[in-house]
Amino acid sequence: MNENLSLGRIAGIHVGLNWSLLVVAALIAWSLATGILPSASPGQTSGAYWTAGVVSAFLFLVSLLAHELAHSIVAMRRGVRVEGITLWLFGGVSRFSSDTSSPGAQALITFVGPLTSLVLGALFYLVSAAFGGGAHPGLLSATLAWLGYINILLGVFNLLPAFPLDGGRLLQSLIWLRTGDRLRATSIAARIGMVFAFLLIAYGLASFLLAGNLIGGIWSVFLGWFLLTAARSEEASGLIRQALSGISVAEVMTPNPVQAPDDISVEDALHRYVLASRHSTFPTHDAVGRLSGLLTMAALKNVAPDARAATLVKEVACPLDRVSIASPADPVNNLLGLPEGCSEGRTLVVDGGRLVGIISPSDISRLVQRSLSGRAQAPAGKR
Ligand SMILES: [Zn+2]
Repeated sequence: MNENLSLGRIAGIHVGLNWSLLVVAALIAWSLATGILPSASPGQTSGAYWTAGVVSAFLFLVSLLAHELAHSIVAMRRGVRVEGITLWLFGGVSRFSSDTSSPGAQALITFVGPLTSLVLGALFYLVSAAFGGGAHPGLLSATLAWLGYINILLGVFNLLPAFPLDGGRLLQSLIWLRTGDRLRATSIAARIGMVFAFLLIAYGLASFLLAGNLIGGIWSVFLGWFLLTAARSEEASGLIRQALSGISVAEVMTPNPVQAPDDISVEDALHRYVLASRHSTFPTHDAVGRLSGLLTMAALKNVAPDARAATLVKEVACPLDRVSIASPADPVNNLLGLPEGCSEGRTLVVDGGRLVGIISPSDISRLVQRSLSGRAQAPAGKR
């Protein structure tokens, strides 16, 4: 889910949203205004129902955001690098670019999300009751009661023990806490998630075949399949993280890569650098020798042959702010899942403002293979 609209920073955390969420918000406003609210609190004007529907849809988005902010703020306090929050079709995603190494911290970071939803739900219900809930509530009270209901639902649903829901992650942290074995915890939690996903698929099929419930059945099968895929990929990425744990960027990088000046033409760069070496990607430097970007194969291919002589490298190179940068001492695991930018998966390794190395995706996959096949040996003396 890509971010289409940036909402700026809240508590120092970048927040953005995907258009799909606006569709969800519109659907919520519509179903509240035309169905849920008129039957809960009859006798109001349609303008009043629509106002309540739109305000509730907005407050629902704020509730989703509160859930994600809880994850991100606690994560930040625990030293995890938070990339930002994206709100989309299925709710929110907090993106972290580093991991916590403690199961207790991970459990806490995970649990505060559903907890926030449950507390918000309870608060909305309380305020609803204070405004006269019960069997014949007024419009304000009925609206608040729906917000209470949807937040409780959000909290409970997220606690289901299946990746990528919070409950799956919580289960993994708790097993990790008990056994001290993170990889085993991941694989047990992933299996439980798979069983859960299969049950959901079976339920969906049964409710379609036995009860003729087409929409609900398809929805359950779809959700089950989504959870199944997530559990599999969680297990695989757990294996990779395990294989890479304890290895630093300095041990994997190719040290002292050749740098190309960014004020030469693409034609020159092709002959003097690309064709003259076995590398396809070159970090670039500006006129005074400062690191300025990354010249990639894709960027070179984008320049038409007859435009090569008149195009400068700096016009086509991937700029520094879209290349992922690491320091030599960073754990390699921090590089997994970094935003791709235009660097074709390359990471530049910078120490005190100076380029000291480069890492390509194949460096990492080679390391994973070596480690998984039991011949893990960190290359020595590469600093
Ligand atoms: Zn959550």
